[in-house]
Amino acid sequence: MTDVTPPTDGPRAPKLPKISFEFFPPKTEEMERNLWDTIKRLAPLDPNFVSVTYGAGGSTRERTHATIVRMLRETDLLPAAHLTCVGASRTEIDEVVDRYHDAGVRHVVALRGDPASGIGTPFVAHPDGYQTSPELVAGIKKRHGDIEVSVSAYPEKHPEARDFDADIDTLQAKVDAGAARAITQVFFDNEFYLRYLDRVRARNIEIPIVPGIMPMHNFKQARNFVTRTGTTVPDWLAQKFDGLDNDADTRKLVAATVAAGQVQKLFKHGVDTFHFYTMNRADLVFTICHLLGIRPKATQEAA
Ligand code: FAD
Repeated sequence: MTDVTPPTDGPRAPKLPKISFEFFPPKTEEMERNLWDTIKRLAPLDPNFVSVTYGAGGSTRERTHATIVRMLRETDLLPAAHLTCVGASRTEIDEVVDRYHDAGVRHVVALRGDPASGIGTPFVAHPDGYQTSPELVAGIKKRHGDIEVSVSAYPEKHPEARDFDADIDTLQAKVDAGAARAITQVFFDNEFYLRYLDRVRARNIEIPIVPGIMPMHNFKQARNFVTRTGTTVPDWLAQKFDGLDNDADTRKLVAATVAAGQVQKLFKHGVDTFHFYTMNRADLVFTICHLLGIRPKATQEAA
């Protein structure tokens, strides 16, 4: 059985994991209501920050902005805006960054982005745009040195990277350009992450490499999506969802247990910060955080 007891052993063991949450901007009013219910449920867990994604090709630019601004206005959360180089000139991207800065945003997750013609096709940068993610990081830091920049990292290597060394060269370039933290692509086998961390540290890259954790509440759909981005879905994980296609309740319980176990094992290895891909749902992430010992702030203060 998966051990999900919060660790207390070891004099240097941190007491509780630190967390952040990722959301995507809603498309409809119903999705908007759902997102805000989710935010209200998760905010008391006191995340370090919450991030909002930027749709492929900048398709959600306004919705990402609106969600971030509403977070600033209505919550105490520290929002981080995702931004990609795709389909926009430097001037346009600089304007987006300036708008965020004017609104009070001080954290951007800077990405190259997927090719406009789809994952698996060659990436063609906008002729007047930022050509690479390190260029985007440098551009943001040059304009606003007080914006903290997070970037991506790929424990299983980005599918376009020639090899791990080339992939880590890009991470190094992003760090040299001013990135303060990397958040990983989702992974399910902790060995990928731990080996990747060894490779990164062997290159003297010292920024936090925060594991990206995705509870698989809709296993089949999620598997299709993540395998396209180069993430391995191990057989043992698929087997846990065997026979549950028409049993959403059990799937949820399994997904929460598996993700809590994954985090717990990493925590025991000394990893103390986690980024949750919430898919705009509160229930699984709330449960996982609870299993890890994290309680809503008001409950803690009242205790
Ligand atoms: P980079 O880190 O710049 O590059 C990844 C690897 O590919 C590097 O090894 C690099 O050397 C190599 N590479 C890059 N370009 C080339 C090339 N032309 N030829 C050969 N090798 C190349 N996407 C969105 O659209 N919106 C989001 O909000 C979003 N958020 C994300 C958040 C996280 C934490 C992660 C991990 C990914 C996110 N993505 C998002 C997906 C991301 O845009 C894609 O994975 C994209 O393909 C790579 O962008 P990057 O910044 O990670 O790439």
